[in-house]
Parts: sequence; C-alpha cells; structure tokens
Amino acid sequence: PTFEIVDMNEMIDEIIIMYHDFLSQKNLDLKFEKMFDKIEVKCDRSRVKQVLINLIKNAIEATNDGDYIKIKTGYENNYAFFEIENNGDPIPEDVQQKIFSPFFTTKVQGTGLGLPICKKIIEEEHKGKLYLVKSDEQSTVFRFEIPLN
Ligand code: ADP
Ligand code: MG
Repeated sequence: PTFEIVDMNEMIDEIIIMYHDFLSQKNLDLKFEKMFDKIEVKCDRSRVKQVLINLIKNAIEATNDGDYIKIKTGYENNYAFFEIENNGDPIPEDVQQKIFSPFFTTKVQGTGLGLPICKKIIEEEHKGKLYLVKSDEQSTVFRFEIPLN
C-alpha cells in the first residue's frame, strides 16, 4: 500500500459530485458538515476512497424519496473521523450483528462485501476503527476513525 497525505474532504466532495444524479433523482437532502476546511490523513488514497464510496452508496441505497444523508468529518483526540447518518428503514437488531460478515446482504443485487472490505481497510490497513454507531427509528449512523500517526 502507498501511504500519502490526503484531504478526505476533497475526496468526499468528488464522490458527492459523482453521485449527484442519484441524489437528485431520489430527491435526497445531502448535507456535508466540515469541522475544518481540510481533513488531512496519512492513508492509502484509493483504499480510503473505496471505503467512502461504499458507505455513501449504502446510505443512498437505504434512503427513500425525500430522506436525508448527513456527512460529518473532523479531528478528535488523535484521529480523523468520518460519520455518515441517514434516515430510512432502520437495521433490525438481529441483522446489526451480521452486517460486517462477508456475503451478508439484504439487497436483491447486493454482494454483502462492502462493509467487510471497509472494515478490513480501516482496521487492518490503517489501524483505525469502523463501526455502526446506532440504527433506530430516527437514523442509522456509521463512523470510522483513522489515527493521525
Ligand atoms: P451490500 O451493500 O452489497 O448489501 P454491505 O456489506 O455494504 O453489502 O452491507 C451489508 C448490509 O448492511 C446491507 O445489505 C444492508 O442490509 C445493511 N446496511 C448497510 N448500510 C446500511 C444503511 N446505511 N442503512 C441501512 N442498512 C444498511
Ligand atoms: Mg454496500
């Protein structure tokens, strides 16, 4: 893996542009809250981009017409974090245990590989953490953290 300094905010902006048509077709309200203009992380650019795409795609797929997606990035303690929240149908508690297992999917065309790959990239390759913060009637929140050193 090639590690370099990457601005996560810039990558996220690019991905939002990439999904623009999907977002407007579904009439989704997407907000991106940046705690700082740039969030610089030492990481493998293409791998972290893959994580961002997977999490954003999952959020889009989980939402219905008129729902919202809220992305937040920032620094906290000794790590950079990314958080994505969406409303829509919550993940039932028994299903929450399974979502990081390879090939587990609730989608007709799903591979069930998105989240396990994301977890491997963040936790094994970048020594960070990726987890489901919560999923209830209000919203579903996924978050990852990458240590700064
Ligand atoms: P896939 O997207 O191919 O189904 P993933 O590993 O990305 O595989 O996700 C596994 C499962 O986790 C999904 O099928 C879905 O049931 C659930 N899931 C993931 N993200 C969300 C989300 N934002 N809201 C609701 N359910 C989700
Ligand atoms: Mg997926």
